[in-house]
Amino acid sequence: MKILLAGGAGYIGSHTAVALLDAGYDVVVVDNYCNSSPEAVKRVEELTGKNVVVYAADVKDKAAMQQIFAENKIDCVIHFAGLKAVGESVQKPIAYYRNNIDTTLTLLEVMAESGCHNIVFSSSATVYGEKNAAPYMETMERGTCSNPYGWTKSMMEQILQDATVADKDLSVVLLRYFNPIGAHESGMIGEDPQGIPNNLMPYIAQVAVGRRDKLTIFGNDYPTPDGTCRRDYIHVMDLADGHVKAVDFAVKNKGTEIFNLGTGTPYSVLDIVNAFEKSNNIKVNYEFGPRRAGDLPEFWANSDKAHEILGWVAKHDLEDMCRDTWNWQSKNPQGYKK
Ligand code: NAD
Ligand code: UDP
Repeated sequence: MKILLAGGAGYIGSHTAVALLDAGYDVVVVDNYCNSSPEAVKRVEELTGKNVVVYAADVKDKAAMQQIFAENKIDCVIHFAGLKAVGESVQKPIAYYRNNIDTTLTLLEVMAESGCHNIVFSSSATVYGEKNAAPYMETMERGTCSNPYGWTKSMMEQILQDATVADKDLSVVLLRYFNPIGAHESGMIGEDPQGIPNNLMPYIAQVAVGRRDKLTIFGNDYPTPDGTCRRDYIHVMDLADGHVKAVDFAVKNKGTEIFNLGTGTPYSVLDIVNAFEKSNNIKVNYEFGPRRAGDLPEFWANSDKAHEILGWVAKHDLEDMCRDTWNWQSKNPQGYKK
């Protein structure tokens, strides 16, 4: 079976490519490298000993996508191709709506033209909005998002759901990721954000490797056990495994199905810093700063549905996540740059 990874050179896409290749699938990647490097796909090939068909193209470019679908009989698409920086989305909402919505529409159009009926979509816990109480369950209504990035995810979920109402052959799996961290245990691929990291774990890793002075913890006066925000961190290889299982599900079913992918256990920012220091025997300098606008105090997943229907369960613990992050970062201090 041939799987097209739109945005497959990115952090989650490259790890999913490894999991799919290891499971015996053929993988085609299309990426415009706006937030990634071609080196990531080379490493995936090196790691797995398998070839990946790669296209440097924009997923919004319909002619390029038609060409890719003409050259490859795609059984299922996984749509990772999106802009994802929450703060930037507030500054550049039009760019976020254009890129994220347009990639989705183009994929759906080209899939329909070429007879591909299955798509797995990278959604986010952010679609639960500000009012739902943790643990989040798939049965809850989508909520009000606090930024344009979140709204793109919410809107894309709606677009994909509407498409399955109209096209009875279409199968859509919406995967709502919680907080992916960690790296492949080889340390050959990992998260390589461009510029100053927005997310906690890559920031910690860059402090540990000496690229940044200290971490600023955004707020210590939240109504949580230690005052810092709590999130549901999930190892990226567990997330990748969730995609393999979601593809299997998508090709056997029709309509829309939603799955949370999280561990169900919340950890605070201080828990993460302490676990990183302990697992890797390395100091992480930090200071407390003001809250970051839009951050919720805490949320985590109920992932029972993914367990019951997909047979998926997170196998890695926080120590694995911290160790594998550091293995990647210490072996690749500048990321994919040589
Ligand atoms: P990433 O930025 O590493 O990967 C996204 C990839 O898509 C990049 O390689 C980028 O170059 C590519 N891309 C973006 N727009 C494109 C376009 N128009 N044409 C072709 N390629 C394009 O991000 P990631 O962390 O791997 O996230 C993957 C997906 O998962 C994204 O949609 C993101 O919103 C979603 N997601 C991520 C997280 C997270 O914490 N990392 C959480 C929830 C959801
Ligand atoms: N965080 C922090 N300092 C940073 C980056 C993040 O204290 O430099 C906190 C942030 O406030 C949140 C948690 O770490 O409580 C996870 O943030 P991240 O951006 O990684 O993920 P989010 O849950 O916001 O998508």
